[in-house]
Amino acid sequence: MKPFPRAEISAQALKDNLARLRQIAPNSRVMAVVKANGYGHGLMNVANCLTEADGFGLARLEEALALRAGGVKAKLVLLEGFFRQVDLMTLVEHDIDTVIHNEVQLEMLENASLSKPVTVWLKLDSGMHRLGFTPEQFASVYARLEACPQVAKPIHIMSHFACADEPDNSMTVDQLAVFEALTKNSPGYRTLANSAGTLYWPDSQADWIRPGIALYGVSPVMGDLGLNHGLEPAMALVSQLIAVRDHKAGEPVGYGCYWYAKEDTRLGVVAIGYGDGYPRNAPEGTPVWINGRRVPVVGRVSMDMLTVDLGKDAKDSIGDDAILWGKALPVEEVAEHIGTIAYELVTKLTPRVAVCLE
Ligand SMILES: *Cc1c(COP(=O)(O)O)cnc(C)c1O
Repeated sequence: MKPFPRAEISAQALKDNLARLRQIAPNSRVMAVVKANGYGHGLMNVANCLTEADGFGLARLEEALALRAGGVKAKLVLLEGFFRQVDLMTLVEHDIDTVIHNEVQLEMLENASLSKPVTVWLKLDSGMHRLGFTPEQFASVYARLEACPQVAKPIHIMSHFACADEPDNSMTVDQLAVFEALTKNSPGYRTLANSAGTLYWPDSQADWIRPGIALYGVSPVMGDLGLNHGLEPAMALVSQLIAVRDHKAGEPVGYGCYWYAKEDTRLGVVAIGYGDGYPRNAPEGTPVWINGRRVPVVGRVSMDMLTVDLGKDAKDSIGDDAILWGKALPVEEVAEHIGTIAYELVTKLTPRVAVCLE
């Protein structure tokens, strides 16, 4: 018997999504973003499926080291760079690229003595104002990196979009213009596009795209679906009905007696809760896919269980699958009900959920 709850990860969907993104951005290399445990899909699962990627993007040094320990030879890029000077030696030893986005990192690099130069992606703040050097600082920082023997040449350049997931927001056009003006003659690689940039702003695809969520088959845009772009959900979150009960009109269910049945019905209890990473604030009506249809969550989500209204004539049985999201029930739709984004749902699953590569 398969364990439950489990996140079933489709190797084929991951591969197909990478191929699809190559079609969408035919002139760009792909830096597959696999931070946060491959967006909850399992870091090594994803890396092993995406052997065709040109490189991987990570948020933390530990993630990059885990890939190297797992035998991954591809280019690895720390998207926030290193945080301590000693980490520079580790980068050199394991051939890991780093982003440089602030003065402190720059000084650590200038003062380091390394056995080999490190490959650097200089981060330009083109308008998001989270990380990166301002357009005013850019030329002088670039010149310092050029002059720094610890830096491999050419220097690559990166920026990140604030609003690319809003197809009507001109912020992205402005960011592109800032980036283009400052970087158009630079000899290294240039990269801006996350998933939203890749899908919605083809002008931003540049030398490398950096898709995360799209690789997992999910759209970054509210109201859109990965399926609309030829992408396929890579994760199905699956559990089971562990009780099916007759329930009378006027009776409540669960903690706080939060919901009362308007009419006689049958309730199902699904073995998943906030202890698995399914949000406690999922409101009444959040859909769950059981035996080929959507049924609504009713009552409070508890730590290990949630309840659904199966309907008066329901034929569902204990042991039937309950799919919290997957191909038939896109995670984007579930996220919208819960008032969050699909990114948060897939990355927040807890270790109690078995991650099964299929
Ligand atoms: C997380 C991240 C990405 C990927 O973003 P998606 O929206 O998941 O495609 C790309 N670039 C940087 C710098 C990131 O931090």
